[in-house]
Amino acid sequence: MALGVQKVEQAGSNLAHYCAVKRSYASLLLMTVAICFACGEFKVGAFTSCPHCGAEPTTDEDLAHSLALTDHYLTPEALEQVQQRAVAGQPIDIAPEFYEQLLQGLQEERATKASRPWWKFW
Ligand SMILES: [Zn+2]
Repeated sequence: MALGVQKVEQAGSNLAHYCAVKRSYASLLLMTVAICFACGEFKVGAFTSCPHCGAEPTTDEDLAHSLALTDHYLTPEALEQVQQRAVAGQPIDIAPEFYEQLLQGLQEERATKASRPWWKFW
């Protein structure tokens, strides 16, 4: 991994994540708050591995799912609801058209920047 500004930002994100563990997740609103596609717990960054269950999205389906469950697309209230449903074992509804859109976007990005996925800026 090359050293640089972007790596510093990522380190900052991790640090903020660790600091926020015992605080309200509202303190994380300035960065990507995501919900793990596998276990439904909160994590930082849509495509990061989950600190709770270790799951890391790898397929386009996982990535689209992960992207849908971030504060880019959901309000903090909606995220909270999704998290509560997920840990209660209830299904998470993602609108099929929206899911398809995300999937398509990911596949287009992959096709144009095959050597370096856009989300792997670190
Ligand atoms: Zn998880």
